[in-house]
Amino acid sequence: VVRLSHIKKSFGDAEVLKDISLEVNPGEVVAIIGPSGGGKSTLLRCATLLETFDAGELSYGDLEVATMQNGKAVYGKKDVLRAAKSRFGLVFQNYNLFPHYTVLKNIMDAPIAVQKRDKADVERQARELIAKMGLDGNEGKVPCELSGGQQQRVSIARALCLNPDIVFFDEPTSALDPELTAEVLKVIKQLAAEHMTMVIVTHEMSFARDVADRIVFMDGGVIVEEGPAEQVINNPQHDRTKAFLNRYD
Ligand code: ATP
Ligand code: MG
Repeated sequence: VVRLSHIKKSFGDAEVLKDISLEVNPGEVVAIIGPSGGGKSTLLRCATLLETFDAGELSYGDLEVATMQNGKAVYGKKDVLRAAKSRFGLVFQNYNLFPHYTVLKNIMDAPIAVQKRDKADVERQARELIAKMGLDGNEGKVPCELSGGQQQRVSIARALCLNPDIVFFDEPTSALDPELTAEVLKVIKQLAAEHMTMVIVTHEMSFARDVADRIVFMDGGVIVEEGPAEQVINNPQHDRTKAFLNRYD
């Protein structure tokens, strides 16, 4: 279980996250939707320790990453943070692959360098993931030799090779044209069918409805509405959710 409770985050005077609480259970797929500037990426960055938050608590299972003390978030010790970082994978909009590493090396790097796993073991898993992502034959290529959709599938393989408890996606297809988007969404749907725990920020509403168990609508730094995917998309309760979804009709 990943648990965020009462997270607050400001940049200067701007409070970007206002008391956000979110729990993700094993096997659950949560889609986060909402207008630009609503705080979706900031929430993901806080959950994945790329950004610190000001108040609130964060835990990965038994690992307490941050706890509240006197109204402030206090982060745990280095070894706790390091252990927590091993429990999630992260997939960004712009792939963030190492440009001078081959596909295979991009996938194998963190499991060996960070998780200190056995190289042969990691390579076996990396090759399996390459096949699973439909990337056979591309092991030795560098990112610029691949399409955007292929690069994104490499970055998904890289995240999965960490054997994470949960994978976070921040608009994984928004840099791709429709054809390449479809192949990436297909891979994510397959992972959902295998009950991979995922949190996906997306602007693809029909995908969100199909793949997510739960949809969270964020606007202005708060969770305005959340619920089963069908319900939030087909029968939103809140005016702000309705207005947002109307733009996608
Ligand atoms: P989008 O759909 O466009 O990706 P988002 O929901 O992901 O939007 P965030 O990127 O989390 O929104 O941004 C939320 C707010 O925080 C915005 O007003 C943004 O300008 C501000 N913000 C984000 N990062 C920083 C930063 N490093 N410094 C200052 N302000 C920031
Ligand atoms: Mg964003």
